[in-house]
Amino acid sequence: MFSWFGKVSFVPYTKVSDFAVHLKDGRIMGSVCNACGYQTFPPRADCPECMSGDFSFREIDGRGKIYTFTRTEAAPTGFEDVAPYTIVVVELDQGGRVLGWLGDTLDFDRIRIGDPVQVVPRIWGEGAEIRLYFTVDRPGTTWHKAPPPHLG
Ligand SMILES: [Zn+2]
Repeated sequence: MFSWFGKVSFVPYTKVSDFAVHLKDGRIMGSVCNACGYQTFPPRADCPECMSGDFSFREIDGRGKIYTFTRTEAAPTGFEDVAPYTIVVVELDQGGRVLGWLGDTLDFDRIRIGDPVQVVPRIWGEGAEIRLYFTVDRPGTTWHKAPPPHLG
């Protein structure tokens, strides 16, 4: 139902399965614990702080700061055609971290840890299966449905 680079990585029968439904509407959802208020992304059905199973979805705006990044020159099988590429971990302002590809709006030679960035969901595919990846772009960049360059 939900793929990451063509590999199924999402079990649709969990309490957080509506995450995919919200993505189809262009909304990125994190979760907030109804018992203690702990916020996280990706959404978690069971609170890592107080173990409560009572949570609500909460839309996140995708803003954050670069936590770390790495450049891949020798790509693993399946990604040879897109190397070199840069993978970025973003610390979201609203809690949680996201792994994404460096987007077209930022330059590898200029990014630094701590820079403000915008995480942008890139989803495509209608029907039962949703394909998703994230890019890390300049603050204010908006999302659109599009396949990644190497899978288009
Ligand atoms: Zn909690």
